[in-house]
Amino acid sequence: MLKFSDIVGQEQIKEHLQRALLDGRVSHAYIIDGARDSDKDMIADVVAAAIQCTDCATDANGMPEPCGKCVSCIQAAAKANGDIIYVTHEKPKSIGVGDIRLMRDDVAIKPYSCEHKVYIINDAELMTAAAQNALLKTLEEPPEYAVILLLADGVSNFLPTVLSRCVTLRMKPVPEEKIEEYCRHRIEESNSEHPGEPMKIGAAEIKMAAGFAGGNAGRALKILGSDSFDAKRQAAAALFENIGSRTSADLVQAAQEFSEKKPAKTSGKKKSDDDGNQEDNSVADAWKLTDFLEIWFRDVSVYKATGIKDRVVFCDHLDGIIKTSDMISFEGLQSIRDAVGEYERRRRANVSDETALEMLLLAVRSQLR
Ligand SMILES: [Zn+2]
Repeated sequence: MLKFSDIVGQEQIKEHLQRALLDGRVSHAYIIDGARDSDKDMIADVVAAAIQCTDCATDANGMPEPCGKCVSCIQAAAKANGDIIYVTHEKPKSIGVGDIRLMRDDVAIKPYSCEHKVYIINDAELMTAAAQNALLKTLEEPPEYAVILLLADGVSNFLPTVLSRCVTLRMKPVPEEKIEEYCRHRIEESNSEHPGEPMKIGAAEIKMAAGFAGGNAGRALKILGSDSFDAKRQAAAALFENIGSRTSADLVQAAQEFSEKKPAKTSGKKKSDDDGNQEDNSVADAWKLTDFLEIWFRDVSVYKATGIKDRVVFCDHLDGIIKTSDMISFEGLQSIRDAVGEYERRRRANVSDETALEMLLLAVRSQLR
């Protein structure tokens, strides 16, 4: 089962939580603040298991770890521990007062077999104000046994009254070398578990995934495992490489293909293979053309300023990055950054994604011809 030592980076969070466990001073409510895919859920799972473990082990530094062997740990690893509750919500994009009331009613019931009850609320930033007010009552007078873990992407949506009653733990970007090491480790682990079908992933691919992950270890792993992410990334690179010589009709078509309502076509690979393994498309779906565009032109900027090839994230398109950097001035690169800002303003003003993208691509092309 997963342990604190499996979490890459996030030393401060691990230390804070392990120290609280050691001293028996675990708070009733935590907010774990980290970007999408950042392994918040993994941290929550480990903390929950450690809180419930009846035979707490220690790591090399004498800090607590879940033992992985007691009944509670075994149930936790199988996500079948009745006292670790994953709070669900009815609507996908919001957590309403009804969802929190159901949880509140459950909090009032004593633990089933463990000493504590741990509640994990994923996407907690989606709680409406009414939901947060409903939660507040529990946060103000929690029963002794209750621990609530709110996993959130940013805290700006939280009421000050909620924030003041939670310990906020902010995740930090993980250095790229550490992410690479983590990916290698996880691949080796997976290959030793499934020797029949080893993953063959080269160092260049791992470096590329770590670069695109932006300090987010969980995202790097998802990127490595996603054919549809790679298809989207390659399609974006193919567009940027020759954007200066594209016709307006080409760009209109590209905007159509990449706009949010119509995600770019993937290679036509079946979504599930014969073993029934589902490919997780969430990482590919979450990436917009502008995300790739920002990285592409950041690569161009960095290469133009430093000439260092090793820092290029689109490392399998080095020639394209070099060619683009020869064609564009630093002023031109600034204009492209401004155009991305303009795209975002248009989107906030409810211009359709397709139209806003079209205008952005035309603006980019004007800097490259
Ligand atoms: Zn245990």
